[in-house]
Amino acid sequence: MTLAGRTAIVTGSNSGIGLGVAEALAAAGADIVLNSFTDRDEDHALAEALGKRHKVRARYIKADMSRGEECRALIAAAGGCDILVNNAGIQHVAPVEEFPVEKWDQILAINLTSAFHTSAAALPGMRAKGWGRIVNIASAHGLTASPYKSAYIAAKHGVVGLTKTVALEAAGQGVTCNAICPGYVLTPLVEAQIPDQMKAHKMDRETVIREVMLLRQPSRQFATVEQIGGTVVYLCSAAADQVTGTTISVDGGWTAL
Ligand code: NAD
Repeated sequence: MTLAGRTAIVTGSNSGIGLGVAEALAAAGADIVLNSFTDRDEDHALAEALGKRHKVRARYIKADMSRGEECRALIAAAGGCDILVNNAGIQHVAPVEEFPVEKWDQILAINLTSAFHTSAAALPGMRAKGWGRIVNIASAHGLTASPYKSAYIAAKHGVVGLTKTVALEAAGQGVTCNAICPGYVLTPLVEAQIPDQMKAHKMDRETVIREVMLLRQPSRQFATVEQIGGTVVYLCSAAADQVTGTTISVDGGWTAL
């Protein structure tokens, strides 16, 4: 399968899952727009290296996904968007009655409202071409809940609802919209938590991963950014032309429980 000639924008892609998704799309031949809210030399260097590695055009465009006008400006600045991966996301953990209002607003803005703005901005161009893919990185927490993550879970459930609505509005026009719902993915952020968890629980690495971190993930294995990337590439393939308005769980069985 080749995505040569397609331009993919991946929001929140200077690390973790977004970067892994960009890598997989570039390996499949797509030109890439990386994004985050910073504008550092290393952000641009990341895009340059990605482009060289896969012999595709890759750029980094700064845009803060907590701001609607910047979400829309990102799509305009890319000068075309065939594949939109809404991935930017943050987390905050606190009981609902103590949840800081500004954190609630920020999580809703970055994790949910940004996908509304970018999708609205990208859809007309996709419709005009008769081909487009919108992939929203939701979460197992888009389908099920855990305590103390009210904003994140509300936002991710919202992403699943937005996914279904956009899919219906674009149905039959060559444009699909789906959500991927990962369980725990081994990103640098999660990797960095392992030593502290080992210390806190006085367990070795394998035990703390299996018995503490992946307690709710029946496979007791992390998903990987490569697996999320591969799922996005599948959704961009002709095999997925009729896959729209749905969720694909990559969660080691979490939501089957
Ligand atoms: P991460 O922190 O490595 O990546 C988040 C990305 O979003 C970063 O590139 C960051 O720079 C960017 N970002 C944050 N605020 C932004 C803003 N205002 N504007 C633009 N970009 C911004 O985390 P990750 O684990 O790779 O998470 C990526 C997505 O996957 C998130 O939506 C997250 O909710 C989802 N997810 C992660 C896991 C997991 O276990 N890691 C599981 C399920 C879902």
